[in-house]
Amino acid sequence: VADGGNKKTSRVRVAVRLRPYMDKQDEKGEGPCVRGLDSQNLEIINWRNATETVKYHFDVFHGEQTTQQQVFLSSVKPILPHILTGQNASVFAYGPTGAGKTHTMLGSSEKPGVIPRAVQEVFNLVKAKDEDEGWDYNIDMSYMEIYNEKVLDLLSPSAQDLPIREDKDKNIFIPGLTRTTISSFSDFDKHFVPASLNRTTASTKLNQRSSRSHAILLIKVVRTERSLPHRQQTGKLYLVDLAGSEDNRRTGNRGIRLKESGAINLSLFTLSKVVDSLNSGTAIRVPYRDSKLTRLLQDSLGGSAHSVMITNIAPEYKYYFDTFSALNFAAKSKLI
Ligand code: ADP
Ligand code: MG
Repeated sequence: VADGGNKKTSRVRVAVRLRPYMDKQDEKGEGPCVRGLDSQNLEIINWRNATETVKYHFDVFHGEQTTQQQVFLSSVKPILPHILTGQNASVFAYGPTGAGKTHTMLGSSEKPGVIPRAVQEVFNLVKAKDEDEGWDYNIDMSYMEIYNEKVLDLLSPSAQDLPIREDKDKNIFIPGLTRTTISSFSDFDKHFVPASLNRTTASTKLNQRSSRSHAILLIKVVRTERSLPHRQQTGKLYLVDLAGSEDNRRTGNRGIRLKESGAINLSLFTLSKVVDSLNSGTAIRVPYRDSKLTRLLQDSLGGSAHSVMITNIAPEYKYYFDTFSALNFAAKSKLI
């Protein structure tokens, strides 16, 4: 029957991050077309009448000066303690290609993003746990990609098109997906970096595949009670760098590109419906099953899970229509 019903579902927090103006050869050469107003509001120029602007309000607005540390502290760090107590969480970066999703999630060695900071913090939290609390903690990672509605294992690249299943307690899992135990941040790095390179190599070969697939890192914290009855709790953290939200029909893709676009549009479109259903609280049914991405995230998005969507936007005119649609998606997702 219905997923909504009388079950309490939590909303998805919506943050918007504007990256700095970078394109000196922007088509109109008129500087940024979008600018921040304060920590919750921004405005974008009206395309038809450049003397007017359209204003938007969000849970959080991160202006172009916002540091990686600030994004992490405000949008991600507060939800991490929950995964040590058997709850689920997800952080995903949404927005057009070139707007800063990978910068936000992964970053660089000089400016590490959400992923390295979150993983480090999970280890810190576990280390700070009092021995007397009586739980043993185990952390493992999985890293996958959804490409053309297929789940691929990035830690074992030969595993293709893995199925998504649900157990009797409604936990979502992927049989056959690699789970690697990690005991420190450097342990994580050792497995994550080569797997990320797998993805980048494939991307140059397949013409920017990285902008057309969803990269999904899963950090699982399993804790076991030392004394009887040895209760066990599992908390999951999904860190997702989504495929580009740009409208591929407009850029004239054909053939295989168009097929990919269809798959991307399906999962991003479904994600928008799911977030919308959760945040409006009026939906009879949350359409998780309509795409691989939302099916996978079902137990970590809504329900008792803690989720945040960081919508990345770019200030140049050439992004105007994609920025506009990303803002509309984010604004719709935000509940007043
Ligand atoms: P996406 O993953 O959405 O396609 P990227 O993260 O690759 O976008 O960002 C595009 C470019 O902009 C990269 O060169 C990146 O380093 C830069 N960039 C993105 N966001 C920022 C930021 N907040 N500050 C500085 N540079 C940024
Ligand atoms: Mg990217």
